[in-house]
Amino acid sequence: MRILVRGAGVAGLAMAFELVTRGVDVLVCEAGPRVGSGASWFAGGMLAPWCERESAEAAVVELGRLSADWWDAALPGLVQRHGTLVVAPPRDAAELGRFASRTDGFDRVDGDVIATLEPDLEGRFRQGLFFTEEAHLDPRAALSRLHGRLVEAGVRFLFDGEQPAAAFDHVIDCTGMAARNVLSALRGVRGELLYLETQDVRLSRPVRLLHPRIPLYVVPRGDGRFMVGATMIESDDRGPVTARSLMELLNAAYTLHPAFGEARVVETGAGVRPAFTDNLPSIERSGNAIYLNGFHRHGFLLAPAMAKRVADMIGKTETAHARDRERAIA
Ligand SMILES: Cc1cc2nc3c(=O)[nH]c(=O)nc-3n(C[C@H](O)[C@H](O)[C@H](O)COP(=O)(O)OP(=O)(O)OC[C@H]3O[C@@H](n4cnc5c(N)ncnc54)[C@H](O)[C@@H]3O)c2cc1C
Repeated sequence: MRILVRGAGVAGLAMAFELVTRGVDVLVCEAGPRVGSGASWFAGGMLAPWCERESAEAAVVELGRLSADWWDAALPGLVQRHGTLVVAPPRDAAELGRFASRTDGFDRVDGDVIATLEPDLEGRFRQGLFFTEEAHLDPRAALSRLHGRLVEAGVRFLFDGEQPAAAFDHVIDCTGMAARNVLSALRGVRGELLYLETQDVRLSRPVRLLHPRIPLYVVPRGDGRFMVGATMIESDDRGPVTARSLMELLNAAYTLHPAFGEARVVETGAGVRPAFTDNLPSIERSGNAIYLNGFHRHGFLLAPAMAKRVADMIGKTETAHARDRERAIA
């Protein structure tokens, strides 16, 4: 069986991985010059289904709880299983109660435990929530390592919009926002972020800072680099970060630790999350084309489970076709 995957973001690469491990001949066709030319490049890389439940459906926990195992199996050593720490400055302490009432899978922690988990936050927060089972990864490393593994496994890639000449049994479209001309319900949710560099703060895990209006997070990337994200704006504008968002992001980092005030801003950026009205991913079929899209805030978290579903679906269709052919011959 030959399958064309359109789009080399996290959805397309996870899809290609699921197919090639089942023995399928896969070609990936990407409009951009490299893997991760869309929203995936800007992700925080948090595998945080229990935290995300605060604003997401229960399906996000069901589909996402095993994603860290999938990434571990695909790319050993990439996933960091240190949990997620959620804190709020004293003036926003009520936000912790609200967050706790909408989630589970956490331990309530006091200032001493916070200091044990993250020594650099000693004395800064009196209470927090610790989601022990959560994990994170570096999304850019994940994309580039997955690309490498796929090439090793025999998957071919075309970049810069080069089109394949051959015909395919199935085409799986994982083009994110670009599929909006077909998937009319798709909308964009802009996420702005920045990268800071400092040797004066050490964190072992993503730390979410609650705020009544704009909750943000800081994810350590190692070697003194931190990703600070992310805004949630109903827009498909990929343009540069606005001054207001930049101030909000820097404020969050500074509130978490004042040493971020001396950090270097090494990158700012904005990605557009492809989302449907329920903010859940979906699989749509039209002839031999399958659309896998709508990952919203959860591409790295949910692409593994959704790609498995699509691969199973194709497997069943092919088995049914093979049975029909056998019957016709008999
Ligand atoms: C700031 C930010 C933070 C985030 N943090 C997290 C997080 O912590 N955890 C998490 O799980 N998710 C997170 N997300 C969400 C995640 O990044 C998205 O859900 C995910 O990237 C969507 O992946 P995708 O492959 O569907 O789309 P994309 O990454 O946009 O990939 C689509 C690809 O298709 C290509 N393409 C377009 N048109 C064509 C065409 N005609 N032919 C071929 N290729 C084409 C594009 O160039 C692109 O490379 C975050 C997103 C943002 C913006």
